[in-house]
Amino acid sequence: MGKKKERMNFKEIGEFGFIDKIKDNCIVNENLVIKGIGDDCAVVQTENSENYLLITTDLLIEGVHFLLERIPFFDLGYKSLAVNISDISAMGGIPRHALISIAIPQNQKVDNIIELYDGMKEIARLYNIDLVGGDTSSSKSGLFIGITLIGEVKKDEIIYRRGSKIGDIIYVTSYLGDSAGGLDIILNHPNEINNKTYKSLLQAHFRPTPNVNEGRIIATSKIATSMIDISDGISSDLRHICNQSGVGAIIYEEKIPVSNTLKEYCNSYNLDYSKFTLSGGEDYILLFTLPASHAGYIENLFYNHFKKNLYKIGEICKESEISIIDYNRKEKKLEVYGWDHFS
Ligand code: ADP
Ligand code: MG
Repeated sequence: MGKKKERMNFKEIGEFGFIDKIKDNCIVNENLVIKGIGDDCAVVQTENSENYLLITTDLLIEGVHFLLERIPFFDLGYKSLAVNISDISAMGGIPRHALISIAIPQNQKVDNIIELYDGMKEIARLYNIDLVGGDTSSSKSGLFIGITLIGEVKKDEIIYRRGSKIGDIIYVTSYLGDSAGGLDIILNHPNEINNKTYKSLLQAHFRPTPNVNEGRIIATSKIATSMIDISDGISSDLRHICNQSGVGAIIYEEKIPVSNTLKEYCNSYNLDYSKFTLSGGEDYILLFTLPASHAGYIENLFYNHFKKNLYKIGEICKESEISIIDYNRKEKKLEVYGWDHFS
């Protein structure tokens, strides 16, 4: 047994298999840690506060998460903080303080890194976040950006990944697939990068808009049973909700919201947009569940606040699998195509 363990490599166990192996015996102070490994943020409490602290961190590596010749420095800074803000939004929280760690190759230009910080400061200002510190190092290979973001949420408003119940409705807060469409332009049709028709796809990819206000409305309504942000693609992120809640799900492909711009792009290049919507990822919108009896209430509340719709894409069910009813009304198993660092 022990020997077999040693021989296992990362490709075999995958990113989530690895996290599963290290997640035990991490917590010494059970009374202070409400949720450790396994959700969008760690949830901790300090004495005498009516709020929980939410803590999240993300590491972005040149050549793995981004290519410097494909993203402007400003946007790279903007997006690096955006992905962390999104994790705070996924628990219904308010982002507050950020720490930025960066490792820079010797030959990198100072102006570029200042521009990267300008991008971070721009989104920090938009979301009322303070950049309060970090760490700086040289790097022997490529640029590394590590961001830790701290937020807070009232104890009775927090929403976890676990908690969805059989019969709950599954909602998403916006279109899916725009960011993946933008990435497809960059990688496969770079001649379209300056085409104004597709601007919103590139914008979704370079400067995603975390749904903090949407998350707050959902949290303060206190009727959602689970929530996650869509970072790796719906097939992977809905699975996290199902695994943590011990349920299955069924989703309807025709109910998945797709922007007209993405449809237009896919039509002109003869692409199937479901690969962008189901497994594209980097949407940074929210997916949440609530009992069917509250559907009308949340839809009205959302419309009154934002003048936009919520999208009902499916239901939570008993089976442990996730199925999808496709455009031809055929039911099939939804495969996980989401991002795994070691696959
Ligand atoms: P997200 O996509 O929402 O950022 P991840 O899939 O990266 O979340 O992480 C899932 C969970 O595993 C989170 O609770 C995260 O804090 C935890 N985690 C990821 N990597 C590590 C690690 N190397 N050590 C400890 N916890 C980790
Ligand atoms: Mg997340």
